[in-house]
Amino acid sequence: MFLKITFRWRFVFWAPAAVLACRILVPVSGSADGADATPPRILAAATENLITPAIRDVGVYEDLFARTLVLSDGTTTVALVALDLGGLSPVATADRLRTVVHRASKIPIANIALICSHTHNARWPESDDWLRDKQPSTAVLPIEEAWFADLEIESDHTRWLYGQIAESVKRAAASLRPATLRTGRQHAQIGHNRRKMGDDGLMKMTPNLEGAVVPWVDVLEVVEATSDDVPTEKRIALLFSHAAHPVIVHETTEEIGPDYPGYAVKHLRRLQAVQGRSHEVTMFAQGCGGNINGYPLRGGTAAADAAGLSLAMSANQATHKLSIVSEGPIRVASRRLALPLRVPTPEEARRWLSWRPGDPIRQAMVEAAEAGEPKFMPFPMTVISIGDDLCFVLLAQDIFAEYQLFADEESTFGQTFVFGYVNGTGGYVGTKADYELGIYGGYETSPLTQPSGSSYRFPPQPRVEAQIHEAIREMLSEVGKTAVR
Ligand SMILES: [Zn+2]
Repeated sequence: MFLKITFRWRFVFWAPAAVLACRILVPVSGSADGADATPPRILAAATENLITPAIRDVGVYEDLFARTLVLSDGTTTVALVALDLGGLSPVATADRLRTVVHRASKIPIANIALICSHTHNARWPESDDWLRDKQPSTAVLPIEEAWFADLEIESDHTRWLYGQIAESVKRAAASLRPATLRTGRQHAQIGHNRRKMGDDGLMKMTPNLEGAVVPWVDVLEVVEATSDDVPTEKRIALLFSHAAHPVIVHETTEEIGPDYPGYAVKHLRRLQAVQGRSHEVTMFAQGCGGNINGYPLRGGTAAADAAGLSLAMSANQATHKLSIVSEGPIRVASRRLALPLRVPTPEEARRWLSWRPGDPIRQAMVEAAEAGEPKFMPFPMTVISIGDDLCFVLLAQDIFAEYQLFADEESTFGQTFVFGYVNGTGGYVGTKADYELGIYGGYETSPLTQPSGSSYRFPPQPRVEAQIHEAIREMLSEVGKTAVR
C-alpha cells in the first residue's frame, strides 16, 4: 500500500499595498488520497551544540546552546531550532541565518524555525555592541564558506555562530530515524503580565496579576520507534515551552547566560534522568511572552535558577500523562505579513519633538512623517501540523500573550504549541486595545517609547491584530485536517 503524495503549490498572491501580505510558495505535501492510505512514518533527530562565545572581558554564568529538533514525514522536513539568544533583529538577520541553515541542511527556508529564547543576557548577534569585540569560541564544528556566499556577514563571531547553528541542523537532518511523538500540557506560571494601567491613564510596566498570561507548559517528547512502531528506550528529545520574558537575571550581572530557560533545561534533564528517562536533547522554546515578565524581574541568577526549577517541575509533571500523536503528513503554511506602522502626521511628530527638542529619534520621526511614506514591520509566520494531533504556530517579533491564547483557542488540533520570537525580532506586537492607547500605551506600544528606538521606528497600527488573527485562521485551515471541521 503506497501513500499518494500530492503537491499543491500555493500561488503568489499580492494584496493591495496598504495590507501588503505576500504569501510564500510552500509545497503542501501528503494529502492522503483515499481511505486506504497509510500515514507516513514520522522521522526525527535532535542535536545540541554550544554557542557560548569565548570572550575577553565578560564572564559566563551558564552556557548558551543551539538545540535542534528535525522532523520529517519522508517528504516534508522541518527544523525547530531553539537558540539561547535575545533575538535575531531585524528580521533580515534571521533571513540570513535561515539561508545559511538551508544551504547546510538542504531543508527549505520556509520550513526552518529559528526560535530565540529572548534571554536578556545574550543579545542580538548582528546589530548589538554586545558581541562586536568578542572572539569566536574555541568550540568549533566545521563550517563551509559556501554557506555564506552573497550574504553580507562581516563579523567573524557572527559567521562562527551561524556556522555552528547550521552545522548542528545539518547533523540532525542527516540522522533522522523513525520516531513516536507524545504531547502533554500542565499548569505552569513563572511570571506575570507586566502592563498595568495607572491612575493617571498611562500604562506602566509593573506586575499585573489580573493581566493575560499563558498559564501552562507544553511538552513534546520524541522517542525512537522500531519499524513496527514499538517505542524503544531511546529518547530523542524533550521539547518544552512556556511564555515569559527571560529577565530574571537581566542587568544584575554583565555575564552571559540563558536566564531561567537554561536552568529549566538543566533541572528538567536531571528530573527525567532520576526517573530513567534521559533524552538526547532537552530543549526550551519561548512562547508569546511580549507582555509577560519572568518573576522576579532582575532577581539574579539564584532567582532564575528557582524559576527554572519551578518550570521544570511542571514540565516533568506533564511528561507523566502524555498523549501519543497519531501519525500523519507534515504540512507547512507560511506567510510574511507586512504589518502597517503608525507613522504620525507631521504636526504630531513636530509636537513630540517640541517636548524633547534636539532629540535625534524625535527628529528622525519628523523627517519620516514629512516624507509621508507608509512603513511596515515584517512579520514572518509559519504553521506546521503533523497529522491531526499536533500543530506549531510560529510567530515573529516580541509578541503579546493574547496572540498565543487566540491561536490555541482557534486551533482544532489535539495540542497546539505557539512560539514567539521566531525568524526575526526587533519590535513588540501588541493588541488592538494596546495600540489604541496611543502615546499612553507604555513601554511596548507607545510611539514615544521602545518602538521609536527600534529598527522599525514606529509601532504597528491597531488593525494589525485583525490582520494577524486572519492569517492564523487561514494558515490553520491550510494545514488542517482533511475532514470537514
Ligand atoms: Zn522583549
